[in-house]
Amino acid sequence: MGHGLYVHVPFCVRKCAYCAFYSRRPEPELVAAWLAGVERELGGLPEKFSPGSVFFGGGTPTALSEEDLARLLDLIHERVDLHNVAEWTCEANPGTLTPGKAARLKKAGVDRLSIGAQSFDDATLTRLGRIHTSAETRECIALARAAGFDNLGLDVIYGVPGVSRETFCADVEAAMALDPEHISCYCLEIEEGTPFAREEEAGRLSISEDEQRGQFDWARKRLAEGGWTHYEISNFAKPGRECRQNLLYWSGKDYIGIGPAAHSHWNGVRWGNSPELPEWKRAFEEKLAPEAKARETLVMGLRRIAGWSRAEFRAWTGFDYEALRGKEIAELAKEGLLVAEPGRIRLADDALFVSDSVFSELV
Ligand code: SF4
Repeated sequence: MGHGLYVHVPFCVRKCAYCAFYSRRPEPELVAAWLAGVERELGGLPEKFSPGSVFFGGGTPTALSEEDLARLLDLIHERVDLHNVAEWTCEANPGTLTPGKAARLKKAGVDRLSIGAQSFDDATLTRLGRIHTSAETRECIALARAAGFDNLGLDVIYGVPGVSRETFCADVEAAMALDPEHISCYCLEIEEGTPFAREEEAGRLSISEDEQRGQFDWARKRLAEGGWTHYEISNFAKPGRECRQNLLYWSGKDYIGIGPAAHSHWNGVRWGNSPELPEWKRAFEEKLAPEAKARETLVMGLRRIAGWSRAEFRAWTGFDYEALRGKEIAELAKEGLLVAEPGRIRLADDALFVSDSVFSELV
C-alpha cells in the first residue's frame, strides 16, 4: 500500500451551510499564492518519497480554472515520483467539472473521481447550500464517464434536519441507479461556526438520533443488497474499489499533506498546517511515542468493518492489542460494542453509529 500524498485545494465557489472545512473563494491572486506555496512544500518532500496513492481534496479541486488545475498537475509531475501510484483520486463537485478539466485530470493520471452529490432532491440541496442541482450531478457523472473515468465515488448525506426518511431513501436509490463504484454515506454533523449551527441555536433545526440511526441502518442494508460492500463506517464499495488513500489512513500508514489545513504523519512525527491563505505555516508538530501511535492505529483500524486481526496489528505496530488495551476491549465487548473473537476484534454492528464513544475508550 505504501504511503500517501494529500493535496488540500482550499477553494469553493460558495460555502455550504453545514461545512467547517477551510476554504476560500478561488480569487486569482489567492490561487496563484496557493500554487506557489504548494510548489514550495512539494520541494520539501522527503527524499525517495514515492506515494502509492495521491488524493486531491478540499475544498473543491474542480473549482480551480482549467489552467490552474493544469499547473497543479504539472507541479505534481515535476516534483513527485509517481511510479508507485496505484490510485489517484480527485474530489469533484457538480457544477464545477467541465469536459476540459476532466480530460486534463485523466491525461495526468488521475483515475478516480469522488463526486459530492450529497442529495438528489433539489429542495435538500438548496437547504444544504449546495451550488448545484440534481440534474447537474447527473451531468457531472455522465461527463466523468465520457472522459473515461471507470472509478467513481458518490457522497450522500443522511440525517439532515427537515429531510424525511423517504427523501433520504430516494437519494440512496438514485445514487445506486447511477452505478458508481463507491458510495460514501455521511451523517450530517452540526459544526461550530456554520449557518447550520446558528440555526440550531435558534431552535430551528432538529432531528432525533433515532431517525439518523434509522436512515443509516436502512442505507447499509440497501447498499449491501445492491452489491456495495460496507468496508468502513461511512463507506461502501464494489469489490476491489475501496478507496486506497482512506484504507491507508485507517491502517495507520504514513502520509504527507500539502496545503493549508493539511495534516501529515511521517516517520513517527505528526504535524498540521495552519488554515490560512495566502501563506500557511506549520501550526503544530509532535513526535508520537510508539505506544501512543499504536493506540491511535488501533482506533483508526477499527473504523474498517473487518477491524483488526491480532497478527496484522502486531506485525504493523509491534504491539499486541490485548497487552495495550485488553481491559477496555473486554469491557466494550461485554457492553456489546466490540466483537472480540479469537485473533480478531471489530466494531459490533450496534456500535457503528456511536463509534466515537467506543474510540474514546480505547485511545
Ligand atoms: S463544496 Fe465541500 S468543502 Fe466546499 S463548502 Fe461545500 S461541503 Fe465544504
